[in-house]
Amino acid sequence: MGGSGRSLSDGGAVAEVAWGKRALGSWLVKVLVVGSGGREHALVWALSRDSEVEQVVAAPGNPGIEALQPAYDGQTIVCRAVDVSDHDAVVALATELGIDLAVVGPEAPLVAGLADPLRAAGIAVFGPSKDAAEIEGSKAFAKDVMAAASVPTGRAYVCTTPEQAAEAIDAFGPPYVVKDDALAAGKGVVVTSDRAEALEHAAGCDQVLIEEFLDGPEVSLFAITDGVTVLPMQPAQDFKRLADNDEGPNTGGMGAYTPLPWAPENLVEEITEKVLQPTIDELRRRGTPFSGLLYAGLALTSRGTRVIEFNCRFGDPETQALLPLLKTPLGGLLYAAATGKLADVQPLSWKSGASVAVVVAAKKYPAKPRSGDVISGIEQAEAGGVHVFHAGTTVEDNEVVTAGGRVLAVSATGKDLDEARQRAYSGVGQIRIKGSQHRTDIALKAARGEIELLPIS
Ligand code: AMP
Repeated sequence: MGGSGRSLSDGGAVAEVAWGKRALGSWLVKVLVVGSGGREHALVWALSRDSEVEQVVAAPGNPGIEALQPAYDGQTIVCRAVDVSDHDAVVALATELGIDLAVVGPEAPLVAGLADPLRAAGIAVFGPSKDAAEIEGSKAFAKDVMAAASVPTGRAYVCTTPEQAAEAIDAFGPPYVVKDDALAAGKGVVVTSDRAEALEHAAGCDQVLIEEFLDGPEVSLFAITDGVTVLPMQPAQDFKRLADNDEGPNTGGMGAYTPLPWAPENLVEEITEKVLQPTIDELRRRGTPFSGLLYAGLALTSRGTRVIEFNCRFGDPETQALLPLLKTPLGGLLYAAATGKLADVQPLSWKSGASVAVVVAAKKYPAKPRSGDVISGIEQAEAGGVHVFHAGTTVEDNEVVTAGGRVLAVSATGKDLDEARQRAYSGVGQIRIKGSQHRTDIALKAARGEIELLPIS
């Protein structure tokens, strides 16, 4: 370890974490968070609660991050404008600021390889290399890794012509699952019983995966990893469809909750053993170790647990639900992962109770989200005790206005899902955006005990 680190406060689960070079003198570190969405807002907020973090710089950040108050005197939280697709500019900014830890939030810069030049510049990075990020960047690569690691997943065909796609679609029968094999912000998947719609989606993609339909409830499980050790978070569930009762088109995610009262007791252990650890071991074996956050999207089907997809970063909006319950200080945790020291970290520590995040989306999301609508009521909602994490917002003429599809995530904790739901929805009720949309049933079935696991056949 690089110096005998002071035990971290609050939760105390990460003891003796070795911090960066600056930390040897002051015990305080500078963290760069790359990205501008709700996930990055939640990450910056959680990092600011870590007493070892002196400065958080969000690049480019968003108006919600700009408005965050430092947790203690001397801490700073700032946004710096930068084009995250300009890797040289991001590296120059990190170097100029003397950043100890860079956390890359979204998938696009990770898949484009931003972590590599940051590491080459001597900065500890939380986020996988370009090669390892292919686990999200290419569904065909992910399937190949899973096959090699014997990780349970749906059967699938990779197709490059409409004829191949039609053959695969007919081989599986309805409901059809057609996945664009390219990054599509969660919107590249069509699940439909309409054969013509399935064929049309396939025809619009260069390469598609036609996959067997997986029944059963979905789970998102995130693992912090340094490429060897895997530290799972508690499970969450997100809601991909736009409308209540899982109707409407797929979106980037309309809400999330954690924990899952209906989940089998050993779920996290089982997924760690059968999915997360073998995947991390296989990536290391291939010479592309994955360090950062491995997100497993799973279905608990009647034939057992199956991986639906892997992502190479924190999920949005699950992160906005998870982080308010995480007791382990986030800075030390991500730094330990970034520096290969995760084996020294205790299992994560969580507050009891539940957390619910409800996404408020712009009019006409996901097809053609409208920009420029004035947002009001955020302060009133926060005065009621919720967190309002910004995603698609900007400031125009001193007013916060919509600037993206998913505009905000309103996140609340409570003693149980019922209480967290009530608080989150009362926060949503304070917010006014012309034509906005949100689901009213986030965590509802779980709160009512209506989610049932399918018997294993
Ligand atoms: P993905 O982007 O792969 O997570 O897919 C988005 C959503 O589509 C998932 O959260 C599921 O709700 C649904 N989905 C994806 N693959 C399947 C599948 N094989 N069977 C059933 N639903 C699926």
